[in-house]
Amino acid sequence: MIPGNLFIQGANFGVNSRDKRLLFESLWRFFLTLFLERGNYLIRIENLVKVYENGFKAVDDVSLNIQKKEIFGIIGLSGAGKSSLIRCINRLEEATSGKIFVEDKCINDFSEKELREYRKDVSMIFQSFNLFYQKNVFDNIAFPLKVNGWKKADIKERVLKLLKYVNLEDKIYSYPSNLSGGQKQRVAIARALATDPKILLCDEATSALDPKSTKSILELLQKIRNELDLTIVLITHQMEVVKDICDRAAVMDSGKIVEEDMVLELFTSPKSNITRSLIENIPVDVESYEVNRQKYSGIVLRLGFTKELSTMPILSSLIKETGVDISVISGNIDTVKDGKVGHLIIEVVKREDFPIVKSFLEGKRIIVEEVL
Ligand code: ADP
Repeated sequence: MIPGNLFIQGANFGVNSRDKRLLFESLWRFFLTLFLERGNYLIRIENLVKVYENGFKAVDDVSLNIQKKEIFGIIGLSGAGKSSLIRCINRLEEATSGKIFVEDKCINDFSEKELREYRKDVSMIFQSFNLFYQKNVFDNIAFPLKVNGWKKADIKERVLKLLKYVNLEDKIYSYPSNLSGGQKQRVAIARALATDPKILLCDEATSALDPKSTKSILELLQKIRNELDLTIVLITHQMEVVKDICDRAAVMDSGKIVEEDMVLELFTSPKSNITRSLIENIPVDVESYEVNRQKYSGIVLRLGFTKELSTMPILSSLIKETGVDISVISGNIDTVKDGKVGHLIIEVVKREDFPIVKSFLEGKRIIVEEVL
């Protein structure tokens, strides 16, 4: 319909037939790309609003697209609205307005029966594990299968397979109270995978764990995504979780998405203050905070840049092109999902050269922070 209109307009404005064909072809490509892109998104959230009964708006006009097989992080401080948003995806919470589409079906319009079917495709794990403490590990994992009417022999086979997958075969008859936090989360993950879902929602899944267990659970989540064709949406207040496993992430603040990007981009070019402050909380470069003011008369800067940029002779071009004196104090490369982020501490020897150095580096998309 739109190309047709444009053809008529083209005729009115005297566009020749070759131009019309080119116009038609480019429009066709545009709509095809749009169609393919839409098809690629497993979850589309459009203008979602959640207002609680007391009138508090926890989610404020959020739109997000999440691709199949993506690990998508939603990060923000406590109270930002992350749980409210993620719970709308499995309809534990009902959206006040806006729509969520999963595989192009609007889940807000689902009947009770459709909702029951949909929930088999969407599992969730929690910070507090939500296990049945009076049931052993086998029965915890078997629970969703029993609810879905599986036969006893099939349940046994499935639970044993899941236990092997999460590496807990030896705990089959243990009770949750005798398991470590990491083991409890493995049981919860096995239970979440029991019905072979398409989406796994993780609500602060590692927030109650020590660093070693956190690492092993994050590795397990990555394995699940890679091997089981699963899409993972996780919410967290820990930027290091996003850094370690997410492909893309959205930063949430006061119910709104303030920033959304590939993880490497978020770390290297944060656009909002909230993202910057979340990044600053990661203990990455201890040396930068140990720089002794007495030792340096110039201005000490902390530079953050991507692997791609770090291989370029940035500093030598800086010196060559601007003629300023720079001395390197320390360096540190930090591993981020799919790449590395470099941090370098330098001294701009003459304080008056600072503006020229700053504008040169920022022109190359390097984050420049004044340390001293
Ligand atoms: P986060 O997961 O980022 O910590 P939440 O979605 O849990 O954020 O909460 C966002 C805001 O909504 C908070 O201020 C919280 O107090 C409020 N909130 C959450 N649940 C309810 C509820 N059932 N009724 C009223 N307010 C709520």
